[in-house]
Amino acid sequence: MKRSIFTALAVAAVLSCTACGKTEVGKADVPVSTAGTQTTASPDTASLTDEAASAETATDTYQDTTAETSAAKEVTTVTEEAVSVGGGENTEASAATQPQTQAQTRSRDTAPSPGDADYAPAPVQYDIPGITYIQGTLIANKSYSLPADFNPGLDSTCENQFYKLQNDAAQQGLNIWFASGFRSYDYQAQIYNNYVARDGQALADTYSARPGYSEHQSGLAIDVNQIDDSFIGTPEAVWLENHCHEYGFILRYPRGKESITGYQYESWHIRYVGTDLSYAVHDSGLTLEEYFGIDSAYKE
Ligand SMILES: [Zn+2]
Repeated sequence: MKRSIFTALAVAAVLSCTACGKTEVGKADVPVSTAGTQTTASPDTASLTDEAASAETATDTYQDTTAETSAAKEVTTVTEEAVSVGGGENTEASAATQPQTQAQTRSRDTAPSPGDADYAPAPVQYDIPGITYIQGTLIANKSYSLPADFNPGLDSTCENQFYKLQNDAAQQGLNIWFASGFRSYDYQAQIYNNYVARDGQALADTYSARPGYSEHQSGLAIDVNQIDDSFIGTPEAVWLENHCHEYGFILRYPRGKESITGYQYESWHIRYVGTDLSYAVHDSGLTLEEYFGIDSAYKE
C-alpha cells in the first residue's frame, strides 16, 4: 500500500534524501539500486531511475565543472597542505605498493597526519561569492546557502575516499553502496517543490532542503544504501557511524540533534570534510553546527 503510494508520488515527484528530502519522518518507499544492487525504498528517490539518474548526473557533472580556488563569504583559510595532499595521488599510488602496511600498522584511533596513507585532505575551496566557509569548511545548511549557479558536481577526493570506505567495508563483509551524490540547485528545486505541493511547506521543511540549502549541491555529500530508516541499525549503518570519519566523512545529521542541524536523524547521509576535521568532529561528539558554533535555521 504505502510503497505504491510513494512510488506513484515519486514517479510524479522528484526525490532525494531528508536534508535532501525524505517524505514522512523516517518513512519512505521506493526501489533503489545503484552500486549496491540492494532494493529498498525511499521516497527520497522517486524511482530507481531518478536515483541512478541523479547519481549518474552527479558523476557526469563533476568531471567537468570544477572551478578551483579559495573563496567565500566568511572565514577562509586554504590549507596548502590540504591541496598538496589532495594531489596525493602519488601518496595513494605509493600506498598501493607500500602504504597497506603503514595504514594497517597505524592506529586509526587518532587522526592521520599528512603523508600517512590514510590521510584524507580537506576539500578544495571555491573562489565564488556567496559560498560560506568557516575555518576553511564549506557550510550548506538552513542558515548558509549556496549560489543557484554553483554546480561543482561530485568532488573527486570525496568520491575517491568513498570508494576506499566502501572497499574496506567490503573487507568486513559489508555492502555499502553509493546511492546519491551531487544534486544541482534546479534538481533540488524540483524535489522540494514536489514535497511542498504534497505536504505543505511547513512539513516539507522538516525533511527536504529548500533549493540552494541542500548539502548535496556542495558536491561533498553522499547518501548510501537505501536512504531511509530501514538502514538504521544494519551492520552497514553501525560500521558507517563508527568508521566514516577514518575516511574524512562525518555523519551529518545524527540522532537527537534535529533541533540543531534542522534535519531529522539520517543514518545514510555522510559529508566529506577531510580527516583533520572528521576526526575532530567525531571525537567531539558534536554536530558541524555545534563544532563551529553556528545555527541552521531559515531566515523567514
Ligand atoms: Zn543526503
